[in-house]
Amino acid sequence: MRSYKDSLQLFSQPLGRQMEELYSAPYLIIHRAHLHGVLVQEADRLGVAIHLDSHFTRINFSDPSVELSNGKTYDAEIVLGEDGERSACRDALLGYDISSRDSGDHVFRITVKASNGTEHKDMMDLVQPPYVNHCVGPGANAITYALKRNCLLNVVLTCACDVSKTIQHGLRKAEIHEAREVFGRWDDRFQTLLSLAQRCTKWTLL
Ligand SMILES: Cc1cc2nc3c(=O)[nH]c(=O)nc-3n(C[C@H](O)[C@H](O)[C@H](O)COP(=O)(O)OP(=O)(O)OC[C@H]3O[C@@H](n4cnc5c(N)ncnc54)[C@H](O)[C@@H]3O)c2cc1C
Repeated sequence: MRSYKDSLQLFSQPLGRQMEELYSAPYLIIHRAHLHGVLVQEADRLGVAIHLDSHFTRINFSDPSVELSNGKTYDAEIVLGEDGERSACRDALLGYDISSRDSGDHVFRITVKASNGTEHKDMMDLVQPPYVNHCVGPGANAITYALKRNCLLNVVLTCACDVSKTIQHGLRKAEIHEAREVFGRWDDRFQTLLSLAQRCTKWTLL
């Protein structure tokens, strides 16, 4: 963990062998597509049938079954609802809607080619694995870590904004100057990261 002003290290936590000893499992960072790949492979190995394009429209809890928008119905012993933040399954189970609320925290995500980062000497400890850097500043924090076999640096910038009554779901395209409004006051390495950004997206934490 580092300070936003000068990237001075404030705290460090070993993530290698110590994590395995403590939790009997490794600390891993994995790209979502790769994680999906691993899960699909294992489901396949276990003989699980995966039906894509299966949007459920109704769940019957008393005599468990799931109705899909394509007209099919599946009977089940157990229905496990994992349909995310706007879960219709959760609402159906509870019998009322749970609306999300804007937490006031907004997140910018930029990606930087790791090879671009290594051209800047002062960036080495940010762009080289196995580090996860968490920088903290006033009303904002930033996390950087390597992805895709260390080819890509993922930069997640979170900052406090005004709470909006209109919820904006999902990922939106953002301009880099929006992130600069907050992180432009951080130490030089963040200016370099922002200048190397390939693309910028944002979303609201609900
Ligand atoms: C842009 C972005 C970046 C993020 N980055 C990170 C990160 O770096 N690290 C991290 O740990 N977390 C990250 N998160 C958070 C993480 O994505 C979520 O916490 C996680 O995906 C939640 O998992 P879930 O299975 O509950 O829901 P989801 O991943 O949302 O999965 C829900 C699934 O249900 C499906 N579904 C919904 N309704 C229906 C229906 N009626 N019928 C059938 N299927 C339905 C959806 O299509 C979806 O596939 C990020 C989130 C966002 C938006």
